[in-house]
Formats: sequence, C-alpha cells, structure tokens
Amino acid sequence: MAEKPMCMPIQIPHDEDMQKGDSVRCLTMLGHFGFECLPHQLVNRSIQQGFSFNILCVGETGIGKSTLIDTLFNTNLKDKKSSHFYSNVGLKIQTYELQENNVQLKLTVVRTVGYGDQINKEASYQPIVDYVDAQFEAYLQEELKIKRSFTDYHDSRIHVCLYFISPTGHSLKSLDLLTMKNIDSKVNIVPLIAKADTISKYDLQKFKCKIMTELVSNGIQIYQFPTDDEPTAQANSSMNGQLPFAVVGSMDEVKVGKRMVRGRQYPWGVLQVENENHCDFIKLRDMLLCINMEDLKEQTHIQHYEWYRCCKLKKMGFTDVGPDNKPLSYRKSLIILKESNKRRQ
Ligand code: GDP
Repeated sequence: MAEKPMCMPIQIPHDEDMQKGDSVRCLTMLGHFGFECLPHQLVNRSIQQGFSFNILCVGETGIGKSTLIDTLFNTNLKDKKSSHFYSNVGLKIQTYELQENNVQLKLTVVRTVGYGDQINKEASYQPIVDYVDAQFEAYLQEELKIKRSFTDYHDSRIHVCLYFISPTGHSLKSLDLLTMKNIDSKVNIVPLIAKADTISKYDLQKFKCKIMTELVSNGIQIYQFPTDDEPTAQANSSMNGQLPFAVVGSMDEVKVGKRMVRGRQYPWGVLQVENENHCDFIKLRDMLLCINMEDLKEQTHIQHYEWYRCCKLKKMGFTDVGPDNKPLSYRKSLIILKESNKRRQ
C-alpha cells in the first residue's frame, strides 16, 4: 500500500523565498504541503476508472486491417474474413476489454466492410462520415441533458483513423483522396501503407514522398504528432517526417536464429514485423499507443468534436452574442432561439 503523506503545519513563505520577478512561489521550506501528490492522485484515479480508445480502420477488403489490429495488440481479435460482395460500404464495430499490468483499456475497433468493392465508389465515404458524426451527436446529446451521467457513459467518438493505402507504389487512388478529404476535419488520420512487404525498399521511399505530395496538393490534413511537449517533441517531429508508416501485420511466429519472432516467411527469407529495418510497425505502435494516445483523444475533443458542436449549435439557432455583438445571457439566448424557431415554422 502507498504510504500516506504526513500532515505538517503549513509555513507561509517569506518574500525572500520568492525570486524577484517570479510569479510562481516555490515552497522550499522544511515541511510537507501535499499538493505535490496531485499527479499521483490523478494517476490513481485514472487507473481505477480505466481507459478507452476507439480506432477506425478504413481500407479495401483484404488489405490487412484485421491482421494489423491483432498484431498491434498481440491478441487474436480477428473474426471471420470479410467478403468482397457487399453492395454498399458498411462498418463492423467490436469492443474488447484489454489489460496490460494493472491498466485496463476498453478498445473499440470499427472496420470498413466492402470498402472499394463497388463499381461506383463515389458514395463510399458517406457511411464513414455518418458514423463519425453519429458518435459526436450522441456525446452532444449527453452533454445537453439536464441529468448527465458521464461516469458510465461509453464515449464512442473515434480517436484515430488508420487509413490503409494499397501498396501500389504508384499513387493514391481517387477513392483514397475523396474519403480522406471528407473525413479529415472529423478525425485524426494516420495514413499507412499496408502490406509493405510487397514493395521494394527503393520504391517505398518514392511512394511515401508521392503520397505526402498528393495529400498536400489536395489540401488533406493528416494528424501531426505533437512537437510542443518536451520529452516527446524530438521523437514526434522525426516521426512526422516518416509518414505514411509502411506496415506489415502477422501473428505467425517464425524462427530466426534461436529466437521466435512475429513475421512473414518467404522462400527468400523472413520479414520480421518488429524489426525497424524491415517495416514501420514498431514506429506505429509506439506513436499510437505509447506516446500519443492521450493527445489523439484530446485532439478529438478539443478540435474535431468542438467543430461539430459549434456547427450543430449554430444550426439549431444558439448564439453567444446578440445583434449588437454583445455577449448574451443564457436566458436571452433561449428567447432568441425560440423566436428564430417560430419564424422557421
Ligand atoms: P482485412 O479484410 O482488411 O481485414 O484483411 P485481413 O487482415 O483479413 O488480411 C487479408 C489477407 O492479407 C490475409 O490472408 C492476411 O494474412 C494477409 N495480410 C495481412 N497483412 C499482411 C501484410 O502485411 N503483408 C502481406 N503480404 N499479407 C498480409
């Protein structure tokens, strides 16, 4: 059990304890104040509550979505193989309870089904957009309730979209551009080159550059690993330069020397999934789960959800300022809302 901090009488610091011009008072005297334990309180509470993370996998049928998710969590979450014969794009949603040491993670994986299989692919992105919006709407409805219950609410908003690009070595398909363009303001997109073992090292570098150029020229925003927090800034900024990650998935154990590793066995050798010289799988796992999971969740809330909420409330007639551009009281804003609704009817 953790030792309880001792309660000591609080000593008020004298002026000489504050450095001139400093706005923060460092309490350096003998004695224990206790608020230095605040981070531990937060950690303990978070561990008790558990964490949740929601991943959306978008990519053609058979591109390796399920295998990669299994490889990421080193567990068999896979269900039966998807068919290529769906008349529309659909989404398969599965939630798993995972545990690593004493940390529990409620993982929701949403996968596209039948993506890229129709002759007319124009509307393929619509079910994805509708799903992402529906999760924002559910959260907004919970927020607007008088009696809210966020403690047991399962927040299903998508935190990251892994977009699987075919390893053609050529360029992005119009379906890729269209879908990413339509979802980039709603989710954090991390682009991946799938089945990267099927493309040569030289072609891969050229393909990566080509993809990034195409994304920029089409004005598509992808998620940038944050570079403003000191301990992770360097790693994140170097990883931003290596996107899209070239990944390989496999749950097969293959013998390399005396070790068993996860990999794919070919007549000419073994591709080791967790070898950074072979593919970017480890980079993806570290960036996604180890370093930036919290930032992905934060960006979902403060950027994508905020944008949805703002548009939705405006559309409903809510306003923060009156016709004179001065802030409105909540009561006044409700009166304006009622009047504008009456006018609409
Ligand atoms: P999904 O339909 O996108 O979920 O695709 P699956 O994960 O079911 O994979 C379809 C097939 O591709 C399976 O036979 C996998 O073994 C194979 N596969 C998955 N990942 C890779 C990869 O990285 N490289 C290669 N060469 N094959 C892969």
